[in-house]
Amino acid sequence: MGRHALDGRPTPVSPLWHCESAWLSVRGECGHAVVAPVRAFARRAARPISPSTELYRLVDRLRCSRCATRPPQHVSVRWDRE
Ligand SMILES: [Zn+2]
Repeated sequence: MGRHALDGRPTPVSPLWHCESAWLSVRGECGHAVVAPVRAFARRAARPISPSTELYRLVDRLRCSRCATRPPQHVSVRWDRE
């Protein structure tokens, strides 16, 4: 049984605190893909990122770890890893 209600899903303008349990799937131009919890991306940010920052601002700051494309070409948000 899921812990989350069907409504209240994160959107690009959701603050990071609202997305803590969400997963981010990002893929760079080179095809390199990473799926990780939103909070893991926030922790890896070069500069500290506030919990009130909108999700799209975090995505804007992401770089592909292989080819350094920024921002990644494909991004999706989901509640679960699947
Ligand atoms: Zn890449």
